[in-house]
Amino acid sequence: MQSPKKVIIVGGVAGGASCAARLRRLDEQAIITVYDRGPFVSFANCGLPYHVGGVIPDEASLLLASPQLFHDRFCIDVQVHHEVVAIHREAKTVTVKNLLSGESFEDRYDSLVLSPGASPLKPDLPGLDLPGVFTVRSIPDTQQIRGWIAKTNAKHAIVAGGGFIGLEMAENLRHLGLEVILIQNGPQVMISMDAEMVTPLHAHLIKNGIQLKLNTTLSSVAQHGEKLIVNGELETDIVILGLGVRPETTLAKAAGLRLGKRGGISVDKQMRSSDPAILAIGDAVEVHDLITDTDILLALAGPANRQGRIAADVIAGRDSAFRGVQGTAICGLFDLAVAQTGATEKSLKRLKRAGISDYEKVYLHPKHHVGYYPGAQTLHLKLLFAKPSGRILGMQALGTVDVARKVDVVSALIQKGGTVFDLEEVELCYAPQFGAAKDALNYAGFIAANHLRGDLPLTHWNALPEGAFILDVRDDDEFSAGHAEGAVNIPLNQLRSRLSELPQDQSLHVYCGVGQRAYYAVRLLLQHGFDARDICGGWITAGMM
Ligand code: FAD
Repeated sequence: MQSPKKVIIVGGVAGGASCAARLRRLDEQAIITVYDRGPFVSFANCGLPYHVGGVIPDEASLLLASPQLFHDRFCIDVQVHHEVVAIHREAKTVTVKNLLSGESFEDRYDSLVLSPGASPLKPDLPGLDLPGVFTVRSIPDTQQIRGWIAKTNAKHAIVAGGGFIGLEMAENLRHLGLEVILIQNGPQVMISMDAEMVTPLHAHLIKNGIQLKLNTTLSSVAQHGEKLIVNGELETDIVILGLGVRPETTLAKAAGLRLGKRGGISVDKQMRSSDPAILAIGDAVEVHDLITDTDILLALAGPANRQGRIAADVIAGRDSAFRGVQGTAICGLFDLAVAQTGATEKSLKRLKRAGISDYEKVYLHPKHHVGYYPGAQTLHLKLLFAKPSGRILGMQALGTVDVARKVDVVSALIQKGGTVFDLEEVELCYAPQFGAAKDALNYAGFIAANHLRGDLPLTHWNALPEGAFILDVRDDDEFSAGHAEGAVNIPLNQLRSRLSELPQDQSLHVYCGVGQRAYYAVRLLLQHGFDARDICGGWITAGMM
């Protein structure tokens, strides 16, 4: 009989814990040990900001499994406060340091899995080690933040960084009643999204009492009595750093494992590192982006968990492979959600690869369910697709309800290589309180497919030529309330009888509120011999630019 496999897992949270539990389900004989240098394993990082804000009042709810549970249920040995400090690849051993006793020992492996996560970026700037300046990665971090707020009776907070951790922290500090300033070094928060798609988010943050300081780079923190001074001018009681994360590769680098161009551990589809006995998963590794055909870093819980399962499969001898990522993510802010999957326009502009020589985008602003049912809320959607194939490249969404569902459906389609023609046909749940017989996603497909079939020439607000003839087909009162500079107003219902007012020798750039009346107008005009195109997403999109 073969002797049982000895498997060591470094890091017992998202990727590591998934890997350990799955491996036990596949191999009852394996000897599995998990080392984590922190005091907890299998905790919900994603819940940390909400625990700070009191939305999740009980710290214990963040603990999904204890070392005892791993032992009793899975016969897995979980050692917390144990840091793996070196890998000896020749001998297939690791050196482990017990952080409580200070003692070190060697442990042997047949397979080693690295799931050490990522560490928060803390640039080398004055004052970032002062008391009162925090990063957010672990339960002890939240304990310290909550303790500091209580001890100093904090009234003011500065959050540096408008990514999802910074934003979630800003929201939660507001829940605690603090005055919050969010500083962000560029012109938009959520830089993973296209700028116009976060315009409503900026307004929403301000509406909810967050003072936004865009184009403001964190340069220093200084102590002034009991207060902290940020950038020499902003007084506060606490500073939260949400400046991004860096893959935790200290061990891998020291062991000579290959790193990728972005600084993460380089792995194959089976999550094997350059040493086949060592697998690596989660935030520490580089992953293949399905759309842009590049290797990227993506610190998200879903991929980490799925990679953990795949690493377990591979160790157990199964032929599993990680499909790659498309960056599907969501962030909730007060009662608003922003979500994305696949490529953004920014990323497509940067990378003319993966056979994507040309792309188009559509904007739409539908209600999340039929307008006649009470409570319909506006969604803002942006769909990107390849030309001429129609392959869906990405979707971004913002709204108060149903944002996740819209993006999730598109995410599933993208993973299966779906096109806008599939989106036209996708069959979704419908009753009045949930959607529409022609769902917003069907509409996204209709608009994109109409365009590709040549039925609906499109243009965009930021692509209008100098001196363009702009035709506004909204009603008079809408036009009076605000319109594009130089636009001519002919309401749709009068268009057929007023065609003589339109130039035959010029392109007509047509818009309405969201795009539907402009579509009708463009179809009418094209059939009367005009060169007409729809300014996609209408007046609402103009307001987001
Ligand atoms: P982790 O879960 O971070 O686990 C790494 C573990 O390894 C740590 O416990 C660490 O102590 C241990 N470790 C590191 N080095 C060693 C060593 N040498 N020896 C022993 N132990 C070691 N993702 C989402 O998809 N959605 C969200 O809403 C979301 N919210 C988040 C909110 C916050 C505040 C944070 C911090 C992250 C959030 N994430 C979210 C990201 C998500 O938590 C991570 O992508 C995921 O946890 C990565 O899993 P991992 O196993 O790679 O690393």
